Amino acid sequence: HADSAMYLAKNKGRNNYQFFNQKLESQAERYMLIQHGLHRALKLKEFYIHYQPKFALDSSLIVGAEALLRWRSPTLEDITPAEFIPIAEETGYIVDIGCWVIEQVCQTLAAWKATGINLVPIAVNISPIQFHRGNIKKALLKSTINHRLDPSLLQIELTEGVVMSGQQKTVQQLQELKDLRFSISIDDFGTGYSSLSYLRELPIDELKIDRSFIMEISDESSFNNPHLTAIPCAVIDLAKNLGLNLVAEGVETEIQSRFLMQKGCNVIQGYLFSAPVDKDRMWELLKEYS
Ligand code: C2E
Ligand code: MG
Ligand code: MG
Ligand code: MG
Repeated sequence: HADSAMYLAKNKGRNNYQFFNQKLESQAERYMLIQHGLHRALKLKEFYIHYQPKFALDSSLIVGAEALLRWRSPTLEDITPAEFIPIAEETGYIVDIGCWVIEQVCQTLAAWKATGINLVPIAVNISPIQFHRGNIKKALLKSTINHRLDPSLLQIELTEGVVMSGQQKTVQQLQELKDLRFSISIDDFGTGYSSLSYLRELPIDELKIDRSFIMEISDESSFNNPHLTAIPCAVIDLAKNLGLNLVAEGVETEIQSRFLMQKGCNVIQGYLFSAPVDKDRMWELLKEYS
């Protein structure tokens, strides 16, 4: 916030004041650059999609994958979704971008299907902005019908905040998607402040344990440290008791995978099995592991 930054800066002397002003200016500039870039990125075909497998430890099979948006911007090098998605949300561009992602994923699934490999459901991340605009059902139906795909091959990842807001309209919207046989996953689970009792009422299929909880498991001694295990174990029990599928995000090490296996979470997504990869590499992985 500009005022508080200047207040801080003033208290640190004149040089700092200038430093903060410059920093704010370049932040504003970068925001503008991103906003302008995003405006043209779809038309200029600068977006592409990576896929990250969800891997089952017991069967050694890929059981799904997540579509992750990438932007090859000519001016903004190595820009990540963490930086551009929030700006795409603020500007509303995320709605068109989200529809594009759904269409691309369906195109890719149809192309894979034609090669005769075993398909797995692909998850797309849906922004709360897009979900609340209410056009998500239409976009999903349009693309799956166009490409003659079974809706159960498309999974929708929504964050806890959206799904657990307690609004009747949200439940209704989810139920409609579910009735059409699209599947629904709650992303980054455990990081929100949701009422657990509410979870029972929701027509969902999967919980994804947030990466932040997995990150904390660093060695064997973590396995019995309740401070570290309490939340992942609670989420695992919750999913089991509610009959939901479960995926652990951000699994990077053998130790973490062993921990999850021991505690009863069988599906992992993370660098340990595979980083997000382009669609050709994903096809090869599917050929080998499904
Ligand atoms: P997310 O949906 O929770 O996706 C998981 C993120 O964790 C991805 O970051 C993925 O590359 C990263 N990741 C996967 N395995 C590991 C690991 O082992 N270690 C570490 N450190 N990271 C791992 P990414 O692709 O940068 O995306 C960040 C976030 O941006 C996503 O979080 C999602 O919220 C959002 N996002 C990505 N693509 C889309 C999209 O098409 N639409 C919307 N609305 N949001 C998207
Ligand atoms: Mg996700
Ligand atoms: Mg996530
Ligand atoms: Mg996330």
